[in-house]
Amino acid sequence: MLCLSAEGLLPKIDYAIFADTGWEPGAVYSHLDRLENDIAGPADIPTVRVSTGNIRDDALNPNHRFASMPLHILNQDGRPGMARRQCTSEYKIKPIKKKVRDLIGYPFPKRIPSGVYVEQWVGISTDEFHRAKDSDVAYMRNRHPLIVDMNWSRADCLRYLKARGLGQTPKSSCLGCPYHGNAQWRHIRDTSPEEWQDVVAFDTAIRTGSARANANGTPLLGQAFLHRARVPLDEAPIDRVTAHELAQRQLELVDEEDLEQGDLDGCSPWSCRSGSPVQADYDQAA
Ligand code: SF4
Repeated sequence: MLCLSAEGLLPKIDYAIFADTGWEPGAVYSHLDRLENDIAGPADIPTVRVSTGNIRDDALNPNHRFASMPLHILNQDGRPGMARRQCTSEYKIKPIKKKVRDLIGYPFPKRIPSGVYVEQWVGISTDEFHRAKDSDVAYMRNRHPLIVDMNWSRADCLRYLKARGLGQTPKSSCLGCPYHGNAQWRHIRDTSPEEWQDVVAFDTAIRTGSARANANGTPLLGQAFLHRARVPLDEAPIDRVTAHELAQRQLELVDEEDLEQGDLDGCSPWSCRSGSPVQADYDQAA
């Protein structure tokens, strides 16, 4: 959408905002630099990076409140579950809302008069229209230009990016997002050994829940994992997933396609509908 706006195929936007969880892959930050320097800058579109902290550091900091990630849980009785997801709201939606209020001159807690609002573009394509939804605040109204103005599918977007020399656009998400599928885990392992070590270390560190919960004497009742197989990441079957391996690892509840691709919806402010189930019997101590 930034490129389309910069090229004049969509109206010119006033700002582009990137919500930084502090734990994106290096390729995403490089890509962001390039977008700012080569596309937004020349088009005179200010890009703003906002953040409420580093999600990785915060999860491992006993003095910091833990905004729960959608970790895969193995309960004490052996049943699988998922932790609640609070991270998208805390690290993406919250800082964007704060910045928007600042930009329109009504920083929190100043009351925003009715009728004052920004139009916020969300990049949902036609094949994922089910993810398009309204904002939850009156001062932001969501618009979905890829659907409404362009009628573009994901394939159309990819073709356009390729034609603009942006065919390698990386997917934005936290390095250790539990929604990753095997393809994403393999990509990290095979292209960035340092980042692989980083996610493996994090996976080990969150096994009994957040550092804050453990420091408070309320550790997780069960075990938490980044991989949906609910085994340590460096032992997870990320190379090849067969029915035999699934049986060996007692993964009969896990869909093979999910293991490979991960959650296609992924994580995006205002359009993230994946991972919504809340595990009632999982004691999220944080
Ligand atoms: S990418 Fe994953 S871990 Fe990061 S904020 Fe989104 S859901 Fe949470």
